[in-house]
Amino acid sequence: MIAGVISVQGAAPEHVHALQDAMAGLGLHGEVIAVRRPEQLASVSCVVIPGGESTTISKLLLRLGLYDPMVRMGEEGVPILGTCAGCVLLAREGDDEVERTGTALLGLMDMKVDRNAFGRQRESFEAPLDIKGMNAPFPGVFIRGPIIERTWGRCEALSTYQGRIVMARQDNMLATSFHPELSRDSRLHEMLLRML
Ligand code: GLN
Repeated sequence: MIAGVISVQGAAPEHVHALQDAMAGLGLHGEVIAVRRPEQLASVSCVVIPGGESTTISKLLLRLGLYDPMVRMGEEGVPILGTCAGCVLLAREGDDEVERTGTALLGLMDMKVDRNAFGRQRESFEAPLDIKGMNAPFPGVFIRGPIIERTWGRCEALSTYQGRIVMARQDNMLATSFHPELSRDSRLHEMLLRML
């Protein structure tokens, strides 16, 4: 089994380590690769889209030919985890800033995001989060994170912080406002691998 981390910009190496920990935790034998080329995507069973700058990541996905295969894989049921900027990219609808910057969202999850909702208040903070399906709080690390303003259709909110949605799931896809790769807790990456 090969897990891929989109590695065009942003916090990719931490996700590689978190996935390796999650595989070890679940007793899975596999490999984690940094994805920069479309042919690498063909070999992976699940994908992480990391945090970073969503406009830059979207431009690079298009330029490197990763955009269309990612949309196809999401639609075909390949498990995908998008964190922070990755959460923004998974959304079907963005905010004014997404519009103004011409950010090409993948549009795979029925949710609307507010791109820098947490950034305007504080640059970064940590908060324990109750996540549906987990029996103990998850340490949420927020760095200029988006919020999920609303979900519809098959998209379900899995966690809220101060009444705002910070994690959602739609079938094979998970999106988080926070950075699970920075918390030394691999339960969220295990959740992704369990969808395989
Ligand atoms: N809000 C940022 C963006 O959409 C993402 C921040 C992050 O990934 N740490 O580009």
